[in-house]
Amino acid sequence: MKKKEVNSSRMPVYRDAGFELFDAETTAGAFKKETEHERVPDNYIYSRYRNPTVVAAEEEIMKLEGCNWALLTQSGMSAIDTALSIFQRGSATRPWLFFTEIYGGTISFIESILRNRRGIDIHYFTPENGTYNLSDFEKVMSELKPEIVYIESVSNPMVIVSDVSEIAGIAKKYGAKTILDNTFATPWLLKPLNEGVDIVIHSATKYFSGHGNLTAGVICGNDGAIMKQAIEYRKFVGHMLSPDDAYRLQTQIQTFELRFSQQCRNASQLADYLNNNAQINKVWYPGLKNHPTHKIAEKLFKGKGYGAMITFDFAGKDGNEKRSRRDKFIKLVTEKIKLIPTLGDPHTILMPVEAVWGAKYPEPGMIRLSVGFEDYIELEIIFRRALENI
Ligand code: PLP
Repeated sequence: MKKKEVNSSRMPVYRDAGFELFDAETTAGAFKKETEHERVPDNYIYSRYRNPTVVAAEEEIMKLEGCNWALLTQSGMSAIDTALSIFQRGSATRPWLFFTEIYGGTISFIESILRNRRGIDIHYFTPENGTYNLSDFEKVMSELKPEIVYIESVSNPMVIVSDVSEIAGIAKKYGAKTILDNTFATPWLLKPLNEGVDIVIHSATKYFSGHGNLTAGVICGNDGAIMKQAIEYRKFVGHMLSPDDAYRLQTQIQTFELRFSQQCRNASQLADYLNNNAQINKVWYPGLKNHPTHKIAEKLFKGKGYGAMITFDFAGKDGNEKRSRRDKFIKLVTEKIKLIPTLGDPHTILMPVEAVWGAKYPEPGMIRLSVGFEDYIELEIIFRRALENI
């Protein structure tokens, strides 16, 4: 059957593995331009290189991040791999500096793949009393002179907000590129490229997709030279997102701002409620004045919100009592608030921190909440009923 244009208002799913190129001259032109083309090619060649449905979803993300290009990948991890690997140049690779409060999967990737398999000279920068000391950071930069600085805008699970503009400024001063994982803050709260960051990545599995039903990642930037390297890396390694997932992402991302703004409002109210509850020992949420990075969050997010992730710990005389209250709480809320190890879902979900990351964090009873966009009153009732009975 001959292909036909129809009056659809949205980009359809193009599942073609390869696209028709008609003659040798068009084919030669398409391949010649492939390594040099701007984001959208004149002619598509092969879906592992570029795909129109993927490009349509990328354009939605470009509008949100306000950037010149966005490249979708199969997962947040493949976006992280792409963003980092384009700086690897065999024995000429300079040291890379990672802030320690980042997603555990990223740490495992750094240790297992970057350090142990690829032999990259990895360094870490650690926070002190729940925040990053910028004069210490400047000292490290002046001594180490790394090629890359890697940070998260809001960390997991302690929700430490990085002073992104200051960090990117110091990195630039010492000739480093800043790569930032903006999954927790999202462009609704922060557009890191406007703060001097060079590359932004997201796990689009989370708030961009927003329904816990697809896995995707994205790398965004403004620098055309970086874009070309990222296009090449994604193509050669095969990190391209599937057209079906791109189509669903393109659709689900339409409601991103509505969903995320409501999730932030719910989280702010819930964090206040938990912070004033006698059954709770401590709440970590950047919107609370007692959070060590509250002032940085205020400055960067301009009062718009503070994200939708909350970590809290139960009151109790020792670790065992806290753990037992945690387990009771999980049982009591499980019908409505499920234990699912992801974030950004429509409904509030939870994760016991110690069970996932071991004894790395201060309190054994800690629970990490990804707050959903359900009705707030109903959410508070679920918490109140459970907390009265633990
Ligand atoms: N970055 C952050 C902050 C994450 O929380 C995650 C996953 O939880 C990732 C990256 C990895 O994303 P994905 O699971 O889509 O590969």
